[in-house]
Amino acid sequence: MLRRLLIALGLAAVAGGGLGLVIIAATRQPNHRTLRSAGASPAGTSVPSTQVSSVPTTTQVPGPPTTAPAPGERRALTGRTIVIDPGHNGGNASHPAEINRIVDAVTLGKPCDTGGAETASGYGESAFNLDVSLRLRALLELAGARVVMTRSDNNGVGPCITDRAAIGNAAHADAAISIHADGGPAGGRGFHVIEPVLIAGHTEAIVGPSRRLALDVRDGYGTGSGMPRSTYAGHDGLDDRNDLGGLNLSTVPKVFIECGNLRNPTDAGMLESPAFRQRAAEALAAGLSGFLSGR
Ligand SMILES: [Zn+2]
Repeated sequence: MLRRLLIALGLAAVAGGGLGLVIIAATRQPNHRTLRSAGASPAGTSVPSTQVSSVPTTTQVPGPPTTAPAPGERRALTGRTIVIDPGHNGGNASHPAEINRIVDAVTLGKPCDTGGAETASGYGESAFNLDVSLRLRALLELAGARVVMTRSDNNGVGPCITDRAAIGNAAHADAAISIHADGGPAGGRGFHVIEPVLIAGHTEAIVGPSRRLALDVRDGYGTGSGMPRSTYAGHDGLDDRNDLGGLNLSTVPKVFIECGNLRNPTDAGMLESPAFRQRAAEALAAGLSGFLSGR
């Protein structure tokens, strides 16, 4: 078994517009087994440590460190808490009684959760969401962040959308992100980031910072992933919705991202690719880092 996980992190410079490429070496973490068992370790990122020394850096940008931390070293996201919410769950579709239970999403009653979308070949959204989320967790933890997941495998049911929000709130997250992929019209392409709207008595405190988070995630993901902005939802890669309990109930800055359209053949080909999912995670890490660093 490999002792080290080596991850190439392409960090988009939100402020400078440049793109730097760095190598991060990390000692094996508890999440490594989950990452591998979920099929999340892509070709080319997990190699013996002796095979990787350095790669050219095109543009130096501020961001996470490039080597394992020295004792006491403070990393770019040290002290920051990020909640990652992989949408849906692998057992949802086979547990309709639990999943269809109506919960209070503030503006309406909604089912606890849903089964999520899938590609024409049957690649499920819940698996995509978790895979990208685990890759993102690894990157953020390398940068020093405390990461809280709303689920960390794809074998369960739920949690309900209300509980997903509550997990972020209880963690006092500096930022929370729900990872999804859409089941849109087959002719529509691309990603969009969804932000909360103003709901009196609920979202006043998070609308402003969530907008900044949405912009940074949109710019990071749009720059780094290669997925275009949506041609069928929202505008300029952004949308806002008042019907998502995960946003309406959040007391911390939060956005959703629909990483692409599983029903579009071109998008599906990308979303089904482990290499794309790694780029997606790196791009999301760049966006979140931009938000948390105020760049
Ligand atoms: Zn979804």
